[in-house]
Amino acid sequence: MRNILVVGAGQAGLHLALGLLKQGYDVTVVSNRTPESIRDGRVLSSQAMFGTAQAHEHALGLDFWAGECPPIEGIALAVPSPEGGKALDWAARLDVPARSVDQRMKMPAWLAELERLGGKLVVHEAGVQDLEGYAAQYDLVLVAAGKGEIASLFERDPALSPYTTPQRALALTYVHGLAPRPDYSAVCFNLLPGVGEYFVFPALTRTGPCEIMVFEGLPGGPMDCWADVRTPAEHLARSREILQRFFPWEAERCAGIELTDAGGTLTGRFAPTVRRPVAVLPSGAPVLGVADVVVLNDPITGQGSNNAAKCAAAYLAAIVERGDRPFDTEWMRETFDRFWADAQHVTGWTNTLLAPPQAHHLALLGAAGEHPRIASRFVNGFDDPSDYADWYLDAGRAEAYLNRVAA
Ligand SMILES: Cc1cc2nc3c(=O)[nH]c(=O)nc-3n(C[C@H](O)[C@H](O)[C@H](O)COP(=O)(O)OP(=O)(O)OC[C@H]3O[C@@H](n4cnc5c(N)ncnc54)[C@H](O)[C@@H]3O)c2cc1C
Repeated sequence: MRNILVVGAGQAGLHLALGLLKQGYDVTVVSNRTPESIRDGRVLSSQAMFGTAQAHEHALGLDFWAGECPPIEGIALAVPSPEGGKALDWAARLDVPARSVDQRMKMPAWLAELERLGGKLVVHEAGVQDLEGYAAQYDLVLVAAGKGEIASLFERDPALSPYTTPQRALALTYVHGLAPRPDYSAVCFNLLPGVGEYFVFPALTRTGPCEIMVFEGLPGGPMDCWADVRTPAEHLARSREILQRFFPWEAERCAGIELTDAGGTLTGRFAPTVRRPVAVLPSGAPVLGVADVVVLNDPITGQGSNNAAKCAAAYLAAIVERGDRPFDTEWMRETFDRFWADAQHVTGWTNTLLAPPQAHHLALLGAAGEHPRIASRFVNGFDDPSDYADWYLDAGRAEAYLNRVAA
């Protein structure tokens, strides 16, 4: 039986570990947190996952909360007008509803499943010396440590990483009591060029269905305003203030909100970074990077967990196909390329959305209010961002597409 070690018990590491166990591999997961500390700790993400990523989890029987988690049936876009009110306001349905299960519930349950299936859990903060030991002992070592310090072992790829600094000040607020959107549930995405973005959508947390408020403020701008916030109550108050100032229609939905729990808030920022997929240890042994370790995107497009699930599925298939042959550096690069074939589109689109919108983006988003098929295409691209290359990203293609729709 081939033995494989995974560093990191997050979305990608556990998905991959559980998939490997189901294929008969001997699997060890090294996690720097216990299941209890994840469960009782602070929220980690807003983790909305679209149809393809959910299907990967379903294929392995890992979608434990599919019946319980409130569906996100569409995506709505609003842009405030300088005169007050909304300059843009439209919505479209997702072909497959998205879902968000609090990672504080998901990861402990997946860790219990790991042990039930015979996998081993080692609670330890893995360092380079540990990786050397693992590489000598295991057929394959995968590093799925997310934004953990150990990711810096993988060299940044400057050609694929246009930003060297964080592009947004991030904040999450998990709440109960937020008034539902009329008609159907959606990610309500509010965009104010020069200030930032606010989006909110239903999710499942430890205390039942909730709504997750996500704030993406431009660094140094008025929504980059969390540094003086000390307590969860102050965080909630600051969340309301932002909405009252920039997105009053969203503030109206918040009359009855309260935090889901004392851990229901998060702030932070990081630079989106693509890294080289293979790190060679001082001994010469290669280890393979997984998901956020190698392709870290800003959450503005809600893609990281989706990418993690897609990466896990691609790596799982490549490992199984490899049979008894060695997991050498060449195989590792080819395995990453399978994931990158998809992930490059996610990164390209996400980095575009971080930059100020260009005229053709605004023309398309405006036209989506008139033409439901444009709105539908934009919304469903969140599940498969490779589609944006054909009509959204490039000015010439955008114009041609708009002409076709108008005709
Ligand atoms: C504010 C915010 C909002 C987000 N919203 C969304 C969204 O709506 N949709 C979406 O798809 N994605 C979203 N994401 C991104 C998503 O959460 C991540 O991309 C995803 O969890 C990455 O999975 P991963 O397995 O690569 O890393 P993680 O899930 O971060 O897991 C890494 C694990 O490794 C552990 N670890 C780290 N270092 C070590 C070490 N040295 N030894 C052992 N263990 C270690 C960590 O503790 C962690 O448990 C959001 C992220 C943020 C910050």
